[in-house]
Amino acid sequence: MSYISEIDPEIAEALKLEANRQDYKLNLIASENYTSRAVMEAQGSIMTNKYAEGYPGKRYYGGCEFVDIAEDLARERAKAIFGAEHVNVQPHSGSGANMGVYFSVLKPGDTIMSMDLSHGGHLSHGSPVNFAGQLYNIVPYGVSRETEALDYDELLAMAKQTKPKMIVCGASAYSRTLDFKSFREIADEAGAYLLADIAHIAGLVAAGAHPSPVPYADFVTTTTHKTLRGPRGGMVMCREEYAKAVDKAIFPGIQGGPLMHVIAAKAVAFKEAQSKEFKQDQEQTVRNAKMLAESLIERDFNIVSGGTDNHVMLLNLNKFNITGKDAEAAMSKAGIILNKNTIPFETRSPFITSGIRIGTPAATTRGMKEMEMVDIAGFIENVILNIGNDKALMEISSDVEQLCSRFPIYK
Ligand code: PLP
Repeated sequence: MSYISEIDPEIAEALKLEANRQDYKLNLIASENYTSRAVMEAQGSIMTNKYAEGYPGKRYYGGCEFVDIAEDLARERAKAIFGAEHVNVQPHSGSGANMGVYFSVLKPGDTIMSMDLSHGGHLSHGSPVNFAGQLYNIVPYGVSRETEALDYDELLAMAKQTKPKMIVCGASAYSRTLDFKSFREIADEAGAYLLADIAHIAGLVAAGAHPSPVPYADFVTTTTHKTLRGPRGGMVMCREEYAKAVDKAIFPGIQGGPLMHVIAAKAVAFKEAQSKEFKQDQEQTVRNAKMLAESLIERDFNIVSGGTDNHVMLLNLNKFNITGKDAEAAMSKAGIILNKNTIPFETRSPFITSGIRIGTPAATTRGMKEMEMVDIAGFIENVILNIGNDKALMEISSDVEQLCSRFPIYK
């Protein structure tokens, strides 16, 4: 920080303010986490200076012998964690990882069957405003109205009827265990490739706290910065038979030079993900989510699908007649950071929404357990009961700050 303060006091000040925000606000954004200092050290390292187009041992630049060590370690560790036959650690993001998979085996106009954004899917699975929705013919699927969970019989019927070339499973806001075996059977019936995007649950999968798609899917993509707790970035895993096509699609297909400092940080995160502490944290993340969901249900909240099996849940706020947008703003005033989210069969726009999404990874990383989840459910209820009462929200924010100060992120 001392160099930045000297060279660029404005950025130094922004960093200080952000550190303070992270320390004293309660982060319930399901897609965020806190990386270790070791991960940040690698990401802020001299490997940022190196161009390394190509792959280890086959680069288009000289002087790559040491960055090769980092990329080889990242690939080998990822393979060991997930049991994947082939890994590409170069995607700059989760969206880029998905693009790399599509480009490896699909042609523009091909049909992809994927989860609708408003039911929990991701933009890069085929939203009309995303490249995927513009390049491919998207057949969207959603959850069932009765259970608000996936109905695999319905998915099978849809796949048989629409004959997609690829089926994408995985989501940004789905709280139930994904049945990858059933997805495989459905893909086989339709003659489709299966892509499992585990961006949200990768840490859980790494720790055995959610079943792995690797034995079933042709391709598995992930981000490295959510439950997996690494640097911001993406990764593709695939069967050996697709290795060449995936590597070619990532480089030179859609990217130039890989971010070697980020790849070094991915390697560090993957080493951490093999530890006993990481496994315990992921299990605690799930236990915390279950406890938070139960406590919210006791307080008369309506949770989409009635609960959670993983790290995330969606609150349907319709019974309180409060929009997701207003709830997000009020939570923020109370020091609770989360995001508004569409709910299945949403009637409002994505800017307004009828729900909020809540996740436990970040709170768990800073050490919070079931007892704190009960407190947090109480804070959430208080905010909802006091929307528009800024004095009450300020009082909640001081309780939230006290809670956060008991759980420092970087000790
Ligand atoms: N896939 C899923 C399921 C996600 O939730 C996300 C991000 O939220 C992504 C892909 C894309 O990741 P990125 O923001 O790194 O492009």
